[in-house]
Amino acid sequence: MKRADNPPAFRSVATTAVHAGRTDFQTLGVHAPPLDLSTTYPIPELGEAVESLELLAAGAAAAPSPIYSRLYNPTVARFEGALAALEGAEAAVAFGSGMAALTAALLAARAGEPGATPRQHVVAVRPLYGGSDHLLTSGLLGFDVDFVRPEEIGAAVRPETALVIVETPANPTLDLVDLAAAARAAAPAPLLVDSTFATPVLQRPLAHGAALVLHSATKFLGGHGDVLAGAIATSEAWAARLRQVRILTGAVLHPLAAFLLHRSLPTLPARVRLAQEGATILAARLAAHPKVVAVRHPSLPGQDPLGLLGRQMDGPGSLIAFEVAGGFAAASRILGAVRLLTPAVSLGSTDSLIQHPAGLTHHVVAPEARAATGIGEGLLRLSVGLEDPDDLWADLAAALEAA
Ligand code: PLP
Repeated sequence: MKRADNPPAFRSVATTAVHAGRTDFQTLGVHAPPLDLSTTYPIPELGEAVESLELLAAGAAAAPSPIYSRLYNPTVARFEGALAALEGAEAAVAFGSGMAALTAALLAARAGEPGATPRQHVVAVRPLYGGSDHLLTSGLLGFDVDFVRPEEIGAAVRPETALVIVETPANPTLDLVDLAAAARAAAPAPLLVDSTFATPVLQRPLAHGAALVLHSATKFLGGHGDVLAGAIATSEAWAARLRQVRILTGAVLHPLAAFLLHRSLPTLPARVRLAQEGATILAARLAAHPKVVAVRHPSLPGQDPLGLLGRQMDGPGSLIAFEVAGGFAAASRILGAVRLLTPAVSLGSTDSLIQHPAGLTHHVVAPEARAATGIGEGLLRLSVGLEDPDDLWADLAAALEAA
């Protein structure tokens, strides 16, 4: 007997993560998502193909004929649908990396509605991931950028502001931004939230007034250190513009990467919560260690001054930043001494990674901006993985002795 597809109403992040993008499996007669690697598709009939081409070029989510994989790919679309469900968004658009996603958002925001005057101004709250900061300061895209504190957003927004950008929790300092307040201050300019550190398991920014949620899907969404990807969850109107940018710039996600991302979503809530448990234990132990000058993790006393845990975030996450006495030399000795932790950039993988933001991920940020946002030479960023926290602590404690 064949059971009819009956898309259920998902009540929780955990159920959505397992089932989103899979509700047509009964009809297809499969138990794993199909992977479509075609770069081109046979044209059934020329008139229909022309109509499809026009639809896709205008940013439609799908069309009768896919035509060409830069315009539409069913495996990528399936992952996008699942991510949109997790973020509570109308749509999601996937890109070849987080940086490609941010670039597409900036280009789409500048162009605005068809026929609108381009808007060249951006307001950004620091700290941001070093690459995002560098994209804005490089002048490459020609924006006029004001970097502000969260409480200065309202005063910085102008009629020609294309986008307000915040990252929360911020990379690498774990600063938290009140999204509802930021969205109110930004209006009518749209708010883009880089929610990479939180994932949709811990934070869903669209519910707090954001227009766009960006993920470096390379991190927790992929979760295994083997996929480079980016994604934006948003309204269908924004998604259409983002798809147009993606088609024009070619910043597409490879379908194999989309397949791996979709395969990783069911374990996302479990991974995020387990890593968070370990991070909370390690943050408390680091805070009590004599060689550690300061620790940043939202679970620690005084580190959520706006009371965002529970209101905006369902947990503190698994990234920790900590400052060691002795600056660059001490930080360097710790990176050289760890055995279980891997000294490497990136985050959100099954294994724990530790890196030096001032020298690596945020080296491209102007030294004054690094100093002003607390990215010192003795700061290390730890992405806690799924290992036993006692094993991680034994490694960290031994490395701290070496410092
Ligand atoms: N946003 C954040 C918070 C990041 O940490 C990163 C990368 O580390 C990016 C964006 C850029 O993502 P990608 O490396 O996938 O281009």
